[in-house]
Amino acid sequence: MKSTIAVTLTDKPKPKPHDDELFFGRIFTDHMFLMDGVADQGWTNPRVVPYGPITLDPSAAVLHYSQEIFEGLKAYRSPRDSALLFRPDKNATRFNRSAERMCMPPVEEEMFLDAVKALVATDKSWVPHSPGTSLYIRPAMIATEAFLGVRPAKSYLFFIILSPVGAYYAEGFNPVKILVEDKYVRAVKGGTGAAKTGGNYAASLAAGEEAHHHGCAQVLYLDGVERKYVEEVGSMNIAFMLDGTLVTPSLSGSILDGVTRATVLQLARDWNIPVSERQVAVDEVITAAGNGRLSEVFGTGTAAVISPVSHLVYKGEHIQVGNGKVGPLAQRLFDEISDIQRGLKPDPHGWVVEVRA
Ligand SMILES: *Cc1c(COP(=O)(O)O)cnc(C)c1O
Repeated sequence: MKSTIAVTLTDKPKPKPHDDELFFGRIFTDHMFLMDGVADQGWTNPRVVPYGPITLDPSAAVLHYSQEIFEGLKAYRSPRDSALLFRPDKNATRFNRSAERMCMPPVEEEMFLDAVKALVATDKSWVPHSPGTSLYIRPAMIATEAFLGVRPAKSYLFFIILSPVGAYYAEGFNPVKILVEDKYVRAVKGGTGAAKTGGNYAASLAAGEEAHHHGCAQVLYLDGVERKYVEEVGSMNIAFMLDGTLVTPSLSGSILDGVTRATVLQLARDWNIPVSERQVAVDEVITAAGNGRLSEVFGTGTAAVISPVSHLVYKGEHIQVGNGKVGPLAQRLFDEISDIQRGLKPDPHGWVVEVRA
């Protein structure tokens, strides 16, 4: 399919916020992308239209049984004033893996990328300028069929919305505490943990609340069967600097295949840092922290790029990682990835895609 995208511009552009008034996901741009799908028949009517509410029948399948998937990526303003996307092909591929798991129709990768580019080009003036800011891109698909039966829906809406977001580290590149969760689990093998689907997030809210009560920013989930192996943070993957090796849990079927995770692994290999994707027992991490062999822990994800961890809170104990400060690898990865994303450094792997207005 190579359909042309119809563009209808708003006649009421919104006032743009100042870069220092930006938070995550509160303000949306002037336009959105929509496209209608019918199972087994593909997609029709791809269009950029003024941003606004969508109507759904109250019996729409997504509202009852959560047949929904999404993606998250960003556009960054380059020194030449163009908008840059970072590895958007990975998001397109992952979107279709999620769609398959949730029995939803695929979106051809080229169509997914054309839609993202068309919308970003339309709202390019919304890509913020200040260091650290970006335009968050949220593609999603929902089951719209008006039907309360439990089976894959017959009709779908694919949409993309955009939100200018502030610098994640407005107060500096600060490490956070994370709660190692031994009560709630996020996903199990055979479940939906490897799909980017809203239900995983709904299921994670209770653990997130508990983490906040413990003064922790995030939850580190353990495997759902033995509560023994580290999985991921629920919106980020996790990595450990253990005895000089960058160790991250392997893609076991219950964790998300993060674009940032893949990027971090590639850069570490480029820099001749030993890398290991394997099962990581939480006891191994705690023991290594105790005898000084755990120098760094950090989360990896599109929102923060790198999120350094100062303490793991496990079974009521606060365990400090390294010296409790941002480690050198976390800092180097953050600087390198941020600079490539913004077109400030060479891009030897061809990760950056420029959006032409
Ligand atoms: C999106 C997401 C991540 C991070 O993936 P990136 O592609 O690096 O942004 C990690 N875990 C979960 C559960 C996610 O939804």
